[in-house]
Amino acid sequence: MPREILVTSALPYANGAIHLGHIVEHVQSDLWVRAMRMAGHKVHYVCADDAHGTSIMLRAEHEGIMPQALIEGVWKQHTADLSDFGVRYDHYSTTDSAANRELTYQIWRALEKNGHVESRPVKQLFDPERQMFLPDRFIKGECPVCHSKDQYGDACEACGSTYNPMDLIEPYSVVSGAKPVERESRHFFVKLADFEVLLKSWLEERRAAGGLQSEVVNKLQEWFADGLRSWDVSRDAPYFGFEIPDQPGKYFYVWVDAPIGYLAAFKELCESKRGGLTPLDFERFTRVDADDTELVHFIGKDIIYFHTLFWPAMLHGAGLRMPTAVNVHGFLTVDGAKMSKSRGTFVNARTYLDHLDADYLRYYLASMLGPTLADIDLDLKAFEERVNSHLVGKWVNIASRCAGFVHKHFDGKLAEELPAAERARYAAAAEKLAACAALYESRDYAAAMRTIIEVADEANAYVAEHAPWVLAKDQSRRDELHVVLTLALNYFRLLTIWLTPVVPATAVRALAFLGDAPDRFDAALMPLLGHAIEPFQPLATRIDPKQVAAMIEASKESLQVSSNPSPPILPVEGEGPKARASASPGPESRVPDPGSSGPGVRVPGPDVISIDDFAKLDLRIARVDVCEFVEGSDKLLRFELDAGELGRRQIFSGIKAAYPEPSELVGRNVVFIANLAPRKMRFGLSEGMILSAGIGGNSLFLLDVDPGATPGMPVK
Ligand SMILES: [Zn+2]
Repeated sequence: MPREILVTSALPYANGAIHLGHIVEHVQSDLWVRAMRMAGHKVHYVCADDAHGTSIMLRAEHEGIMPQALIEGVWKQHTADLSDFGVRYDHYSTTDSAANRELTYQIWRALEKNGHVESRPVKQLFDPERQMFLPDRFIKGECPVCHSKDQYGDACEACGSTYNPMDLIEPYSVVSGAKPVERESRHFFVKLADFEVLLKSWLEERRAAGGLQSEVVNKLQEWFADGLRSWDVSRDAPYFGFEIPDQPGKYFYVWVDAPIGYLAAFKELCESKRGGLTPLDFERFTRVDADDTELVHFIGKDIIYFHTLFWPAMLHGAGLRMPTAVNVHGFLTVDGAKMSKSRGTFVNARTYLDHLDADYLRYYLASMLGPTLADIDLDLKAFEERVNSHLVGKWVNIASRCAGFVHKHFDGKLAEELPAAERARYAAAAEKLAACAALYESRDYAAAMRTIIEVADEANAYVAEHAPWVLAKDQSRRDELHVVLTLALNYFRLLTIWLTPVVPATAVRALAFLGDAPDRFDAALMPLLGHAIEPFQPLATRIDPKQVAAMIEASKESLQVSSNPSPPILPVEGEGPKARASASPGPESRVPDPGSSGPGVRVPGPDVISIDDFAKLDLRIARVDVCEFVEGSDKLLRFELDAGELGRRQIFSGIKAAYPEPSELVGRNVVFIANLAPRKMRFGLSEGMILSAGIGGNSLFLLDVDPGATPGMPVK
């Protein structure tokens, strides 16, 4: 029976680029969608950028742009990266949309009406300088247990202790450096205890139906041990998000409207009337008794609670259907370790695409992915070997070895018929591969890939045994040759059909060579006979280890010291290990970039560069003509420089903490980068970057030059 399924992937945060860790998730769901469609099911596939929260607000502020402009730019990059990885959403939206606002309000009002909302005052640390409440990750200080410096407000990375941010010794705000003060504010909560019985039975029911992995349900049991506490769903202004209706200055915490964004994206798709949908279909997928449609989420193991406790509770509390399945996967490691910027293994999707074919990684990930929460390791050597051996050596090679003979001896046509022995061989292979449909559905892609490679090995053994290159020399064995080539190319077609969800772009080219375009696995049941094929074009080339090395090098380069004014090193909003329903569990997936560093943390030095790299920098001497405070900025100073032959330059520099008396800088010389791309900031155009030594904050020291140097002189 064909099923109707709405599939989503976890929403990437609109604060940074898509990296290979994200790609695991999107490829896993895209592959599933493609396989389910080829099995005859009707699937709608949506995603969106998760566009709200403190991190985005502060990053936009730092860049001097509106948050909407920031998330729009990121949306363009995200959609281009995902599309170039072959991930084909029917609709990719943003949580900062009118549809999402409307749906969030609708769900909120229903929760209120049904008595699931309460409010009470909460004590929280407040940044008196920046005038904002601070999420735990935006507070740092000395660990109260082991006394390590610069630890986050929720947990110590040195000793692993978890604590309350108010327990930190000498806490400071990561946003302004100010000492936070305790302040009270009224927060809104969803009473999760109302849903305890329901959630318990939903979890067991979904586990029995295969909609939740056992390890996930087991993990959740511990939450029920002390009873579910209420979930804090509000944040105070300033916050980038949706304001809570009738509560000026109070905003929905980003994790409220993020999952609602799945449904809002689908609503937009229904309203666009694409994919045979109409606005009425939204109801069919969301009403509480929707049992002829399915809602399937794919997520990483860091955000289980949001999707299996809070999200189903919100849905049910608002009178909507709960998810049919939440499929959870592990994290990506590279060469057996956490992705690392300094080792170059923190690879952005775009950097990968600049060096390697998307289908190669899709295939490798498929060969590693199973239906468990185990982490997936991208072993770069194994990646190279597997792509070269499996995709090129075992699959594409069948076609490249046989195609020429078909054109040379048989006018590009396959035989009209196969003898009984060959027909039986084909049927056996087709039957063996048919098992992959169930393996795809249960997300055991690794097992599906093993099955496919076994059949590829059989096909290659058949070709080797019948050696068409020998038969081709003997005119009397023409018919035999034709049969061998026809079966070999049918093996190739069979493998291609079953590999289509995994390597879609290569498969399309492979099928075009065969003059075929099947969109169902069923098409594999019957061989292609008496059919004309096209001239063979190379479908995939072997990975050269240099390509992988170049990708790693390019990933290291992105580590380079960023331009001044140095971006505030923003941790990512969310809470760490101690997150529980009572507090405000943050998007734990948004862990700080491994390469990021807080104040006082040593920044790893960039790699060795060539003299040519150095020569790209146009370093110059300039004299400070004007230096003044910037209204509305607590970090920046505005400089007007006399740069000699280069004329006058305006530069904004984030060194106010180190130079509280800007007038004292007037008349002195500085060193600056003259050929840095100008940057438009909220306060004006910044045309370069002034160099200083030090780690930031008030520990910064402008460079000087000996007497005799004049403005405009190059520094070499
Ligand atoms: Zn500690």
